[in-house]
Amino acid sequence: MNAAPTGKSGAAGDGLNDGSREPTVDREAWESVIGLEIHVQLSTQTKMFCGCTVTFGDPPNTHVCPVCLGHPGVLPVCNERAIEYATRIALALDCRIAERTVFHRKNYFYPDLPKAYQISQYDQPLGLGGHLDVELEDGSRFTVGITRAHMEEDAGKLVHAGGASGRIDGADYSLVDFNRGGIPLVEIVTEPDLRTPDQARVFLVQLRSLLQQLGVSDVNMEEGSLRCDANVSIRRPGDPFGTKTELKNMNSFRFLQRGLEAEIERQIDTLEAGETVVQQTVHFDPASGAVSALRSKEEAHDYRYFPEPDLTPIELDAEYVERVRESLPELPAARKERLMEQYSLPAKDAAALAGNKPLGDYFEELAAASGDARTAANWVLGDLSAYLNTSGVEVADCPVKVAPLAELLGLVDDGTLSGKMAKEVFETMASTGKDAKTIVAEEGLGQISDLGELETIVVRIVAANPGPAEEFRQGREKVLGFFVGQVMKETQGQANPQIVNDLLRKQLGASGV
Ligand code: ADP
Ligand code: ZN
Ligand code: MG
Repeated sequence: MNAAPTGKSGAAGDGLNDGSREPTVDREAWESVIGLEIHVQLSTQTKMFCGCTVTFGDPPNTHVCPVCLGHPGVLPVCNERAIEYATRIALALDCRIAERTVFHRKNYFYPDLPKAYQISQYDQPLGLGGHLDVELEDGSRFTVGITRAHMEEDAGKLVHAGGASGRIDGADYSLVDFNRGGIPLVEIVTEPDLRTPDQARVFLVQLRSLLQQLGVSDVNMEEGSLRCDANVSIRRPGDPFGTKTELKNMNSFRFLQRGLEAEIERQIDTLEAGETVVQQTVHFDPASGAVSALRSKEEAHDYRYFPEPDLTPIELDAEYVERVRESLPELPAARKERLMEQYSLPAKDAAALAGNKPLGDYFEELAAASGDARTAANWVLGDLSAYLNTSGVEVADCPVKVAPLAELLGLVDDGTLSGKMAKEVFETMASTGKDAKTIVAEEGLGQISDLGELETIVVRIVAANPGPAEEFRQGREKVLGFFVGQVMKETQGQANPQIVNDLLRKQLGASGV
């Protein structure tokens, strides 16, 4: 059947705007286009081109040497482990590994760069043309192309001493800490394949968990070992890409999403007002939620790239690449499939466990120790995750270890504890570090003290149902089932059925007297 036009009078269709209507902006008519540039600090022991230790949070300028300070006459030596880690990343992102990869000097003047150039890669990066398959929370999937993954060294860190948030009141200078200068980085550049801020956030979450599983980085966004710049433009669907702007240093998943949302709003308002989007870097202020222009980005920024003459090109032979490939751990996508298969977990649970390596490991150990994978998954994703999230404790530091939690699950399984009690015991285990049996003994939990609780319920239910009670006393055994059902309902199925039966028979007999 054809839908006939409804003929709403005066609505859209006349193409005229008499100027009296509110100018409405149809945000849905715009599509956003997003591409990310992610810097990953590699967790090597030493820096990219010298022997200085890689650390975080040490006193400023305590891990520096003539090489990373760019003194004249020194020579860089490439860190083999950094190449291995970079290769791992490139392989995990399904990139083609270059047979020959070359370092370039990227020249620019900034106080955090003592050599006045950064050793980076330019037209011969280590990895090219990969992709990452991403799954959204609703189960839908999309693929993000990886343009390149290249190696470079980090710059130093500027500490602006003055200003309201400065460390020294009224100071008008900046300090520079070169501990970070020369730490190996891998920069991952995505294709402009992301279409929503939500997709961008989920992509970054999944990339982070991939990097974590690869064991190549601390991937700590707060400490800066994972940093993300977001490029964004808008267009009418089907049109060519619009002019992009860049949001620098989005240092949390939420900020990335919120920053993109704010910038997309701004671009829509700009274009709807008949103005043009200027290619520039914009700053997102998480406190106010506002975006502001920082500086125009020089389009053909002249970094005067040229090959680093002090480093030889690197040629990774196929055998080396294969060896690295074989050393890769099980990656999240594969682990998710295995968890679904091996433990019959629902896709959502398997994805959550596969996406977080320490949590996934905890789950598999608990499943083995308890012999009940579904229950183990429910605990790990339920109470355990809730505890970790609220306390901010990492899985590795969780006071409730696998074996004691398996013991707790055993107490539920054998009927000693109800599910509700077990949750409380778990809280106590987490806060005191005691094991379940000790807590049950100390607090008099479990079936025995349940007896009193159940008796109260039984007495109340029998009293509230004099009719069925009388029927039972007349010899209708079947009525007992009704009473058991009432008790179970009241205790949410947690009462021990045998005890309930005994109590009911006793009470139904007694109350008749
Ligand atoms: P630039 O030359 O400014 O460095 P690139 O083409 O190298 O730009 O891309 C840098 C990043 O910006 C990549 O992540 C890419 O996906 C993204 N990008 C490129 N063009 C656009 C666009 N029109 N809108 C959004 N993102 C884009
Ligand atoms: Zn050094
Ligand atoms: Mg570029």
